[in-house]
Amino acid sequence: MTEKKVVYSLCCMCTGRCPIMVEVEGGVIKHIWGNPHVFGAKSLCPRGAAGVAFEYDNERPQYPMIRDGERGSGKWRRVSWDEALDFIADKLKTIIENYGAKAIALSDRGGPHTELQKLFLRSIGSPNYFTHHATCSNSVHNAHMSVAGHARNTVGYDYKNCKYMVVFGRNLLESLITGEARNVIEMINSGGKMVYIDVRWNYTASKAYKFFIINPGTDYALALALINVILNQHLYDADFVNKYVVGLDYLRSFIQPYTPEWAEKETGIPAEEIRKIAYEAADAKPSVIFHPGWMTAWNSQDFHFRRAIYILNALMGSYEAKGGIVISKGAGDAGVKIKQPTSIAPKVTEERCDGAGIKYPWIRAQWGMLQVLPEVIETGEPYPVKAYIAMRHDPLASMPDPEVWIKAFDKLDLVVAIDVNWSWTAWYADVILPEATYLERTDNILVRKGLKPQLALRQKVIEPRFDAKSRFQIFKALAERLGKGEYFPWKDEIEMVNWQLEGTGFTFEDFSKKGIIDLTKDPIWYDRNNLKFNTPSGKIEAYSEFLEKAGVPSLAPYERPESPPEGMLRLVSGKVALHTQGRTTSNNPYLNEIYPENHLYIHPEASKKFGVKDGDLVEVSSNGVSEKIRVRVSPYVHPEVAFMLHGFGDPVPVRTRSFGRGASDVRLMKEKLKVTVGGNCPLFETFVKINKI
Ligand code: SF4
Repeated sequence: MTEKKVVYSLCCMCTGRCPIMVEVEGGVIKHIWGNPHVFGAKSLCPRGAAGVAFEYDNERPQYPMIRDGERGSGKWRRVSWDEALDFIADKLKTIIENYGAKAIALSDRGGPHTELQKLFLRSIGSPNYFTHHATCSNSVHNAHMSVAGHARNTVGYDYKNCKYMVVFGRNLLESLITGEARNVIEMINSGGKMVYIDVRWNYTASKAYKFFIINPGTDYALALALINVILNQHLYDADFVNKYVVGLDYLRSFIQPYTPEWAEKETGIPAEEIRKIAYEAADAKPSVIFHPGWMTAWNSQDFHFRRAIYILNALMGSYEAKGGIVISKGAGDAGVKIKQPTSIAPKVTEERCDGAGIKYPWIRAQWGMLQVLPEVIETGEPYPVKAYIAMRHDPLASMPDPEVWIKAFDKLDLVVAIDVNWSWTAWYADVILPEATYLERTDNILVRKGLKPQLALRQKVIEPRFDAKSRFQIFKALAERLGKGEYFPWKDEIEMVNWQLEGTGFTFEDFSKKGIIDLTKDPIWYDRNNLKFNTPSGKIEAYSEFLEKAGVPSLAPYERPESPPEGMLRLVSGKVALHTQGRTTSNNPYLNEIYPENHLYIHPEASKKFGVKDGDLVEVSSNGVSEKIRVRVSPYVHPEVAFMLHGFGDPVPVRTRSFGRGASDVRLMKEKLKVTVGGNCPLFETFVKINKI
């Protein structure tokens, strides 16, 4: 009889890591469900459900390969794992001998499943670990670190109990995480009100109590005007503010010029509506969320805009309040200590090459500024970087101006891509190592932080297809070849997980029952009378001495964003439920069939101006780069905006379904591989022309 089983694991079709239940029959995956034992995870988004199609798609790197032609020529030689790993190790050894281990850089998607690659870097002694966050979310992270001393992802939102939420440009109901979307809907169903602000209508806007199309890049003006009303009309939570907020006098004086009438001229949102938002939020405080957005870095003032948003939350007293911003509780808060693999190796003391934490002291080093790496490679300053490992990360497809990367690669002695996909970066690599997919590997333990912390595990569901290996196997084998095997002392992933659990009373087997381990029955709240913020003052800093000393104002004077030059529109990109991270979804057999390419959304006024109509094929161009895309005309997009979904215009020919379909937003972002004050790239500062083909 054919063996049937159910395996609990974690999805990896996006970065949400939703708990899943996988049905397997005769070694073949039949269906992927949400994990029924986890509240809020009972259903999956379309991407999660398309995990089966992803697994059985043959258009992925199937075996190790070494380049056998020019970089990017697509010429490869199939090799054994030993040959590929020996090749990489020999190159790395030579680089270490000549330039030191710091000449080796690695980037990944970020998140909790980065332990093994970070351990590898630590074991050889390189500080140069980078993440995708440099593209877009660094400013949110660094803003919150400077305001409240917590990483962006160590606070959560108690949506379900929220009474009033103001969301800026974050398509909560479509763009990423199922559980989050569910909780927002629950909030709305229980009478909570959501005000949504964006340059374009989307599904989240459709569920909002009020939706405003804002003039592009003026969100900071709106935030300042809201602070103005809240402070001048004494609408803030005085007890909370007096106890926890530093710099109220500074803030009061700073925001005086930024009245609702002034903001109306900037944002296009009526002054009366701005006042109403402030009053309605104040009536609901502290169960209020001013949502800072997530992956949407708009312009050079982004960092100060995000600081203003977090300050609004502080004025509402919403920190650690029911229905507000909640400081995430980890295993330690439930009295459980989980060992992390990186703790085995000593911390690296060498200076990073990107200046994060040093040249830019307010930009935290843990996520890095990957956009600086091509310049470091080109100039050799502050020191040479000679090898780059892209660990399931595709900067060419996700960062502005991929041509800059391709040029920088020419100066490298080694480019390695470890991936489950044929990424654009892999196409330019010297060596491709096929990683086992999320359904074929076991990762380190995930602590699901929140009011009720849990442990969860991504577990191997089926044996790897083709000649793929897990990241554990890959980095252990590389470390051993470089004489650093002592830092990977475990035989396999199961032994590593059991080591992580030592002293907790739990074992690997405990994940087989429900897929997760609850660490507490009741929610954990910190005492609101005794909150601790990890800032220099221990409080929420509307005025930051640390920033001011570093030459960055606590709040920068508002600057009106540049308008698109005559005959141009501002390029804005976003996501939908079917495609969030193009690299994992655009070539997926199911998702591609439903949504094969992106479109360019423009307002009827723009359609008239450019002489194009709905369905026309156009050339969108900027700074000598052009892409072809079909137009959609919609009254629900700002007249100055050209909107497209991110993740299309795939240039990798072996991804036959997505190859050449639609347009790439990042290729059009010429010369935007820059560092803004918040440490991200200015994603929405590109202007484009449109010509009918
Ligand atoms: S949001 Fe969807 S794709 Fe992302 S982890 Fe959850 S189910 Fe998977």
